[in-house]
Amino acid sequence: MLQSINPYTLKEVYSIKEFSFEQAKAAIDTADECFKSWRTRSFSKRSDHMLAAAEELKKNKETYAEDITLEMGKPISQSIAEIEKCAWVCEYYAENAERQLANKSIETDALESYVSYEPLGAVLAVMPWNYPFWQVFRFAAPALMAGNVGLLKHASNVMKSAANIEKVFSRAGFPEGCFTNLPINSGMVEDIIKNKKIKAVTLTGSKPAGSAVASLAGSEIKKSVLELGGSNALVVFDDCNMEETVKTCIQARYQNTGQSCIAGKRLLLQKPIAEDFTKKFIDAVRKLKSGDPLDKDTYIGPMARVDLAEELEQQLKQSVEQGAKILVGGNRKDAYFEPTVASNVSANMTIFKEETFGPLIGITVFETEEEAVNLVNQSAFGLGVSLFTENLETAKRLAPQFEDGAVFVNELVKSDPRLPFGGTKISGYGRELSSDGIQEFVNKKTVYIK
Ligand code: NDP
Repeated sequence: MLQSINPYTLKEVYSIKEFSFEQAKAAIDTADECFKSWRTRSFSKRSDHMLAAAEELKKNKETYAEDITLEMGKPISQSIAEIEKCAWVCEYYAENAERQLANKSIETDALESYVSYEPLGAVLAVMPWNYPFWQVFRFAAPALMAGNVGLLKHASNVMKSAANIEKVFSRAGFPEGCFTNLPINSGMVEDIIKNKKIKAVTLTGSKPAGSAVASLAGSEIKKSVLELGGSNALVVFDDCNMEETVKTCIQARYQNTGQSCIAGKRLLLQKPIAEDFTKKFIDAVRKLKSGDPLDKDTYIGPMARVDLAEELEQQLKQSVEQGAKILVGGNRKDAYFEPTVASNVSANMTIFKEETFGPLIGITVFETEEEAVNLVNQSAFGLGVSLFTENLETAKRLAPQFEDGAVFVNELVKSDPRLPFGGTKISGYGRELSSDGIQEFVNKKTVYIK
């Protein structure tokens, strides 16, 4: 049985029996069958369905959002915002896919030569619980618009959301097999990847999961995209707009109760403003409203699972033993972890080196630009970095020095359907969203006519 336990009440909210191997195989056969006709459907017909999916999401956003909140504890207003963002990505690809996948002419000595972008077939998506809808739609909207079909292996603790997503596509009129939820545990992923009808795989999640899935895909010579963790730095220079920066950094770290790959996890403060900024930041943290995630005013809910909160507690404990100092928070009760700030954090400490997937931030003070760049790049992760400065020339000069997949200036790192999203180093490879995202799961076919 796959079970969803509400992390606020610790009661079961949903359970479903796993698919047997035969059931999963049959679902893949249906998906493959569907692909044969779906790939020939015009962009405008695919767009009609995708726009219907956006409508369905908007019409029932409260219901879908409530299930997210019950399954993994996301505060309800943030769950509703997540559903709205999913509608946006559906609309974005409904409007742009045809242009993004139009044949590209290239002048050569041929009479005519061009690249066409053709779908691959059934793509497996292994997805995490932290944005149970968004992570899936970010994959599905471009993949289906490109003419692929999708199969979802969602995280075991958000199977109701997985079923809901399948319902969205079915209600939007997508043919059977175009998007399929596979209620399976991770042990069956190997068999699925080995199935000849599965052409590619995408995974969002932790490094161990990514490494396991990418190794399997590699051994089968199948394309993979990995969107793994991050340990983004928020680099605050002494000429920043202090008030705005505090607000943005709070959101960057504490939204979704800190459980986001692109959250700002390391706060790097330039010495002249470090003390003042820390004081203002702590004041803002104290004002964050924790409570029942179904309450519209709640900003910090429980973490998604008790074991995840326990892991965060361990990381903090180790860092305190290594010399970090807790300025606010630090306590845990079941899955609830107080919004926490630790100072005195150096590059050899656990909360600097590892990804902290919860409402905890570590402060490190730097003096020079060079030191800041070195601190940022010391991380094994490479998802993104935020710089806060009023001097945009400085920001532009520094941007190329970072090894990350994204540099945001005076803004938190966020995903936007119009911009490519993805990491370097152990944060993964490949890109999602924008035209780069839709071109990941296509055969870029060279056509040469003499
Ligand atoms: P996992 O990475 O274990 O889970 C993500 C997905 O991968 C789930 O669907 C999971 O299935 C599946 N999975 C896990 N292991 C394997 C495997 N060996 N083969 C195939 N599929 C697998 O995340 P956790 O929930 O355990 O979270 C642990 C940490 O991962 C977090 O603390 C955070 O650091 C990071 N994480 C990063 C995310 C991101 O957005 N980049 C999102 C979520 C977590 P199942 O649930 O059945 O195990």
